[in-house]
Amino acid sequence: MLPAAEPAPGPSTAPGGPRPRAEAVVDLDAVRHNVALLSGTAARSGAATMAVVKADAYGHDAAAVARAALESGADRLGVCTLEEALAVRAAGIDAPLLSWLHLPDEDFASAVAAGVELGVSSREHLAAMLAGARAAGRPARLHLKADTGLSRNGCPPGEWPALVGEAADAVADGFAEVTGVWSHLASADEPGDPSIDAQADRLRAAAAHVRDRGFDPLVHLANSAALMTRPDLHFDVVRPGIAVYGLDPIAQPADSPLVPAMTLRGRVALVKTISAGEGVSYGHEWVAPTERTLALVPLGYADGVPRRLNNRGRMRVRIGDTIRPVVGRVCMDQFVVDCGRPGELDVAVGDTAELFGTGAGGAPTAREWADELGTIHYEIVTGIRGRVRRTLAHPSVGGNNG
Ligand SMILES: *Cc1c(COP(=O)(O)O)cnc(C)c1O
Repeated sequence: MLPAAEPAPGPSTAPGGPRPRAEAVVDLDAVRHNVALLSGTAARSGAATMAVVKADAYGHDAAAVARAALESGADRLGVCTLEEALAVRAAGIDAPLLSWLHLPDEDFASAVAAGVELGVSSREHLAAMLAGARAAGRPARLHLKADTGLSRNGCPPGEWPALVGEAADAVADGFAEVTGVWSHLASADEPGDPSIDAQADRLRAAAAHVRDRGFDPLVHLANSAALMTRPDLHFDVVRPGIAVYGLDPIAQPADSPLVPAMTLRGRVALVKTISAGEGVSYGHEWVAPTERTLALVPLGYADGVPRRLNNRGRMRVRIGDTIRPVVGRVCMDQFVVDCGRPGELDVAVGDTAELFGTGAGGAPTAREWADELGTIHYEIVTGIRGRVRRTLAHPSVGGNNG
């Protein structure tokens, strides 16, 4: 086994006590809803669903999301690293599980012993995995990864015959099974981009080569965006990640059937009134135009609230039923909300300030943050960390919060 990992930096899960000052609430019913929708779409084209729970389920808690996904239509799980895979196994989850980004000197014996399927991108990696399989005394289940044009992980076409040949030899020797052939798209979030079909054609050719060697692998290509827009590219398995978490990879129409699973909120730590003309936060970038009531929220950039989010003064939070602007710079530990003239908003210490969530009632969303920052919501939800406590709403019956 790998040595026990240090606890990952990031939201911890600790029930009980007063409501936390800063909390990422993960609604596992939203995950179930999204996975049911996505796996239903996949099933209509005869494809199975691999829920991607890498990066601690995009910051949502890998074990909890994996359970919820498997309860609601997912057949398999996907992660990036062996550590992530073994953590899923350590949580008692024995579903088919693929890990895909490795160094050749990693502990493949433990992974094979734990029944983790391995993405293979080179002969060097394959040799290391086969050594692990020998040490584990059982065959490695391999998903040969073709680089069909992303030029990132995966085996380029010129090296594919050699990789497939060595995998076939290992199968003959009893050290391997060729379980899958797969690839990953460069521009799935731009439907109509010609690279999508070009990559699919190269994957078909790579799979045909493997079938010619007598194997019958699972073929897979589609991430969330391709799952949602290209049913003709579902092949045997789809690999949704971001959509599992309720975030639409392309656009989030008001009537999106996906439900964002993570709500980030803090509790108001201090309420005060300042005079007209007083500056707020470092650099006094905002000056009170009139006498003003301010609410202090104890989250900052150390917790994953980007400092530049309020550069243009467009960050908003929901307090009660009202959406209020953040004023002045976001600091390491805190930011300030303008609650208007004294008496305008009924706000008290301990109240909840919602930073992002489902967007109901026009409240801010992770997408809004991403748009403001010129990035994608993937980066927002995976970036929540520091002192934010993660709370699981609607966990699995019989499951735990770990
Ligand atoms: C992260 C990842 C996915 C999931 O992608 P989404 O865009 O989040 O759906 C699928 N496949 C691979 C190889 C990935 O790395």
